[in-house]
Amino acid sequence: MVGYRVQNKESFNPDYSCPCCSLILRDPVQLIDCGHRICQSCANEQEGDIITCSECHEKTNRNKLLIDRGFKNDMQILPVVCSLCNWTGILNIYQNHLDQNHQNPTCDSCGQKFSSVNNLDRHIQYDCEKTTVDCLLKQFGCQEMILQINLSKHYLSEQHQHVLMNVVRHLKSISSNDIYKHLQIPSETTINHRQRTDNETIQLQEIDEIIKVLLDGVETLNDDLQRLSNESVHHKNLLDSLTPNLSTLKISMEEQNRYLDGIKINQEVLQQDIESMTQKLNDMKTSSYDGTLMWKIINVQEKMGQQLRNY
Ligand SMILES: [Zn+2]
Ligand SMILES: [Zn+2]
Ligand SMILES: [Zn+2]
Ligand SMILES: [Zn+2]
Ligand SMILES: [Zn+2]
Repeated sequence: MVGYRVQNKESFNPDYSCPCCSLILRDPVQLIDCGHRICQSCANEQEGDIITCSECHEKTNRNKLLIDRGFKNDMQILPVVCSLCNWTGILNIYQNHLDQNHQNPTCDSCGQKFSSVNNLDRHIQYDCEKTTVDCLLKQFGCQEMILQINLSKHYLSEQHQHVLMNVVRHLKSISSNDIYKHLQIPSETTINHRQRTDNETIQLQEIDEIIKVLLDGVETLNDDLQRLSNESVHHKNLLDSLTPNLSTLKISMEEQNRYLDGIKINQEVLQQDIESMTQKLNDMKTSSYDGTLMWKIINVQEKMGQQLRNY
């Protein structure tokens, strides 16, 4: 199954179309990790436990799909125009209309017959080799005739990307206030709205990120300031407590100096004592204690020389 094909899809809020099949959502399920919605049947067609979002390529585990009944209820009253006739009604009864009025539809482009509108829609979206569509950027110069089945390939092509770049540059060059006036975007280019909104959202997110980083920086600076202020108070206290110690230290140093001076004087006295003692000792060496007269003859060699010369 695929979503609902309608003639007036482009007049709808882009949120109502499925990024997988590009049609109006049928039984929307929300991918919890990115918030985008796809048809339940489109989710079922992806194999494996991981569902890749066609809109943003975020991967969501299959058990994290949320059947979005609220969204489905909101969509029930959307006014739709039948893709195969000019019937109009609300989405709620559209399938009923298709089942009753278009039982064996034929592909306009290739002539192939189908057993249900849903099979036809699937054929047009994924298989038909004749159905062509206009590029959504046709009004900006992307004129190529594109096969429906090649549409996603076309959006990735260099030629289309080039046009897209020009559009983005153009949008950037005019102020956001003037965008609506200048562009007068027709309903076919709802996707441009979305792309532009996405661009703006990305820019806003970037600014948001920058503000967050700046806020973090300011917080860090505040913390540093607080810490430094605490430290300075601590240092001041330490200094205050050290000041009386300093004068005590000064007094004790002066005392020590006086003590040292005293010691110096004592030392000088001691030195003098030692010198006089040495003198006494020398004198004592020439004294006799047992009545024997002792001569101390000094310079014997010289005196002998003198005597010898006298003879
Ligand atoms: Zn779908
Ligand atoms: Zn997504
Ligand atoms: Zn119809
Ligand atoms: Zn066909
Ligand atoms: Zn294009």
